Amino acid sequence: MKLDQLPVRSVKGVSAQKEQELHAFGVHTVADLLDYFPFRYEDYRIRGLAETKDGEKVTVLGKIMSNPSLQRYGRAKSRLTSKVAVDGVLVTAVWFNRHFLQEQLVPGRDITLTGKWDQRRLQLTVSESEFPDRGAKRSGTLQPVYSVGGSVTQAWMRKTIEQALVQYGAMLEEVLPLELVDKYGLMPRRDAIARIHRPDDTDEGQAARRRLVYEELFLFQLKLQAYRSLIRKRMDGVAHSVSAETILAFVRTLPFELTASQKKVINEILIDMRSAACMNRLLQGDVGSGKTVVAAVALYASVKAGHQGALMVPTEILAEQHYRSLQKLYADAGVEVALLTGSMTDKRKRDVAAGLQMGLIDVVVGTHALIQDGIEFRSLGLVVTDEQHRFGVNQRSVLRHKGINPDVLTMTATPIPRTLAITAFGDMDVSTLRERPQGRKPILTYWVKHSMMDRVLGFIRREAEAGRQSYFICPLIEESDKLDVQNAIDLHVQLMQAFPDMKIGLLHGRLSAGEKDEAMRDFSSGETQVLVATTVVEVGVDVPNATLMIIMDAERFGLSQLHQLRGRVGRGGHQSYCVLIADPKSETGRERMKVMTETDDGFEVARRDLELRGPGDFFGTKQSGVPDFKLADMSADFAVLEEARDDAAELTGRPDFWTAAAYARLHDILRKDQLFQGDLLD
Ligand code: ADP
Ligand code: MG
Repeated sequence: MKLDQLPVRSVKGVSAQKEQELHAFGVHTVADLLDYFPFRYEDYRIRGLAETKDGEKVTVLGKIMSNPSLQRYGRAKSRLTSKVAVDGVLVTAVWFNRHFLQEQLVPGRDITLTGKWDQRRLQLTVSESEFPDRGAKRSGTLQPVYSVGGSVTQAWMRKTIEQALVQYGAMLEEVLPLELVDKYGLMPRRDAIARIHRPDDTDEGQAARRRLVYEELFLFQLKLQAYRSLIRKRMDGVAHSVSAETILAFVRTLPFELTASQKKVINEILIDMRSAACMNRLLQGDVGSGKTVVAAVALYASVKAGHQGALMVPTEILAEQHYRSLQKLYADAGVEVALLTGSMTDKRKRDVAAGLQMGLIDVVVGTHALIQDGIEFRSLGLVVTDEQHRFGVNQRSVLRHKGINPDVLTMTATPIPRTLAITAFGDMDVSTLRERPQGRKPILTYWVKHSMMDRVLGFIRREAEAGRQSYFICPLIEESDKLDVQNAIDLHVQLMQAFPDMKIGLLHGRLSAGEKDEAMRDFSSGETQVLVATTVVEVGVDVPNATLMIIMDAERFGLSQLHQLRGRVGRGGHQSYCVLIADPKSETGRERMKVMTETDDGFEVARRDLELRGPGDFFGTKQSGVPDFKLADMSADFAVLEEARDDAAELTGRPDFWTAAAYARLHDILRKDQLFQGDLLD
């Protein structure tokens, strides 16, 4: 019987009721219980008074020097004192409401005292005391502190885990390959689990923690990398057969010369697409770096190889915009593009569905529903999607079961430093657009206080008089999307009063799809000069004539989000500006505003963001796709994560990894993972 199959009930002292309560902590099996690590330790190690500061909590060993004296107040209250010699100092030990100890405080007897030290009065207010002649248990140790609740108390948890270690500790098996245990001199798993629950000293606790952190990060990386190597190895994808001349001929029809970066990533993508292995590639590039045209070339390649392509985006506005861009780019290329969104009439949808099934449509642009709503393709070769809709493993297997296994290209405009990229997206290959197209003027960014609103309004007027347009972004109110909308409506009214001669548009999440489109179209065509909006416009909207981005209460946004918003301007030839209106309260808040004014390079913004927040926080965002670790801390343990990543890559890259008996245990672990369900068994 394995520990992960033994119900936690098997541990002595765990009743049916306690078992129920443990389930709430995610503890079902003995293995879960042993993996329920303390989040800190209570320090009962004996210390000298000389090294103890006034007011500090300390545990000391002393000898009782006087008969105790007891004062009682009322029924249950009492104050018990005794003189105790500690390190040659006569200390007054004070117990409150422990009158029952009186008998035991016999002069000449050794005692350990834990409590708060009052240096001036040489007094120790005792919270806990033990007698070494009775076998002091806590004193001298580090006591684990677990997250507990209900009838599961700290003491019960300590006792029960202790019991589990006694009963089952010897059955704990090593999960790491021995070569890795050796490489880092890691503590064996059995010892590490025992030690993390009851370390004898901090060094040992550290060594135990180090080992378990490595294990946690290694297994996480192993999953990602194993998945990646599995996908690469499996030759059941679409091998696109398309010549370089065909691609080049198309590229020559583009209205601009591709940047060196664009050429490089297009090559990387084409290599993947030609291979029968299934592409799973992340394309990251700063806002405005020209990802759309890269996607267009890839989709073109798929079509010319006789397949179809799908471009999935998060909103209808974007779908329409991309649809129009592709139509333009493919104008003379003989590629049939269609749009498919939820707000189209059923008849239109049916037509598109039929066109896809018969292969009359080459490329379809739409929201996520594209893949889910039972849309059939004649031959789907490539799916391009964006990070909001990371193409899940599950979706992949849905498609695979339908007998199609397209290449997948995921685009992201949230640049993350390379190390982090490999870490967070370990299951994908990464291509990066490093440069932006030539001739772009940097976006000038200013940070102003709310009190300067008049100047901001003047700025809007100036741009309008020059024929340019402005965005005005309202703060996002996390708790209430009603307030959010109200904010936008209020600001809209305010601007209409300030500029009675101008047309001011309004865009927020509560509008119907049709209304949103209309607002966007009016802004696109220059019909409205100013667009008041919530963060709906964050992603991908492209209006080259817009030159001014104003962001209200900018301190409420994350740096990468600010950078995304800023990327909505500077898309044409005109000098563009971004104005952040903010009165941040904290030093970090001011620092963040400064970062925005100092650089408009997304990678630099990300780097500074990382510096200000640390990788832990950086990864704390949902989109990172990184799980909550039990023990590992993404800031403190980042170096370990990098080791684990390299080790996992090395291991899964070995030709015999999937067949080697030495790694059977790892395969066993992988097999249990949802990521691999029905996928791993070759
Ligand atoms: P993003 O990476 O933010 O999605 P887009 O693909 O929307 O960027 O491109 C931004 C703008 O730059 C578009 O108007 C696009 O036509 C233009 N563009 C893309 N590549 C080039 C290039 N190599 N030279 C000049 N302009 C380009
Ligand atoms: Mg884009």
